[in-house]
Amino acid sequence: MARVKLDGVTKRYGDVMAVNDMNLDIEHGEFITLVGPSGCGKSTTMETVSGLTRPTEGKVYIGDREVTNLPPKDRGIAMVFQNIALFPHLDVYDNISFGLRLRDYEKEEIDRRVEKAASIVQLEGMLDRMPDEMSGGQRQRVAIARALVREPDVFLMDEPLANLDAKLRVTMRTELQRLHKELDTTILYVTHNQEEAMTMSDRIAVIDSGELQQIAPPLTCYNEPANLFVAGFIGSPAMNFIEGEVVQNGLETENFMIEFDPGKIDGVGVGDHLTMGIRPEDVHPVEKAGNLAHGSDTIEAWADVLEPMGDEIFVYLLLGEDVDTSMEAEGATSNELLMSVDPDSPIKEDDEIEVVIDRTQVHLFDTESGEAVTHGVASLATESTTPGSEAETDD
Ligand code: ADP
Repeated sequence: MARVKLDGVTKRYGDVMAVNDMNLDIEHGEFITLVGPSGCGKSTTMETVSGLTRPTEGKVYIGDREVTNLPPKDRGIAMVFQNIALFPHLDVYDNISFGLRLRDYEKEEIDRRVEKAASIVQLEGMLDRMPDEMSGGQRQRVAIARALVREPDVFLMDEPLANLDAKLRVTMRTELQRLHKELDTTILYVTHNQEEAMTMSDRIAVIDSGELQQIAPPLTCYNEPANLFVAGFIGSPAMNFIEGEVVQNGLETENFMIEFDPGKIDGVGVGDHLTMGIRPEDVHPVEKAGNLAHGSDTIEAWADVLEPMGDEIFVYLLLGEDVDTSMEAEGATSNELLMSVDPDSPIKEDDEIEVVIDRTQVHLFDTESGEAVTHGVASLATESTTPGSEAETDD
């Protein structure tokens, strides 16, 4: 059980910058997930902690020790990988205890650890089974038990659920959370699956192109994404992005206005280009919007495609007054907006409807740098007609 710290860790493979100046400070007992698209540097980051890779620059600490140049076996870690790789000719007991037997542990100690690990992952009574007599989930639990018997300070898990089917992945997620609670141990977990990251972790580290974009509790990344990358990556389906230009009383996009007083946002002035982000659940049909409709622009839209999901319906909207059923979908891509509505919604494909955007949930990003400017604009009341606020927007 230990803290893990990465201090300016950089890894280059020739011209490829796999990890760029990564700083992570993981508390003892935390469940931290590295998440990002394939090739973003998650595994390489993990490998600098496991010792399978040495960083080109920077230092790695586990507990109070610097381990940057220590071999994996001296780091107090145990690893679980995507590829479970059990020995097919060994039963569960022998698979779990293999590493301990290699290290010449006493028989009683091996028995004690195997029994304890098997009970944690609920494999008691299966110790004499062969791998081919077990389901994928059971085999993955054997792999976890094999890591548990090492009694490591830190667990490193690289996509351990990726080879399991969708239903089993969800069950195993819960099991991993239970395991974490029971062991009170530090877990560093890698996945490209944002849903997995959101549901299990104390904090998630979102990585893109080898660089840390944000490290925060899952809901903070969801509600206050640090930049356009995090906003687009976290949340499914993805956040809508619409570009606009700052005017005296808000943001003007091609088809609608979002009202707020730009003078109340530091560093923002008239003429700036901002990208508005709004999640599908924060776009509402006007008749359903209630108070939200107050002070918000009504947006004319055409329901292009509907996707019923059971608990909600995704409505792909095309925007603009000119949009009508005679207009073919091609060419309208810059004017799309995805809305989520209740399953009992009467909206049908090709309906012309009016929608509003919940201004408390509008995220604004600097279009060029991608950095977040503000989350929620409803509290930034517009007083654009007063001379004072006009003067403020000039700086
Ligand atoms: P992820 O785990 O997020 O999919 P990786 O850490 O595996 O990403 O890879 C990050 C980048 O480093 C990728 O561009 C990958 O091609 C490159 N890379 C990883 N390992 C090596 C290696 N051993 N040699 C050369 N390039 C590598």
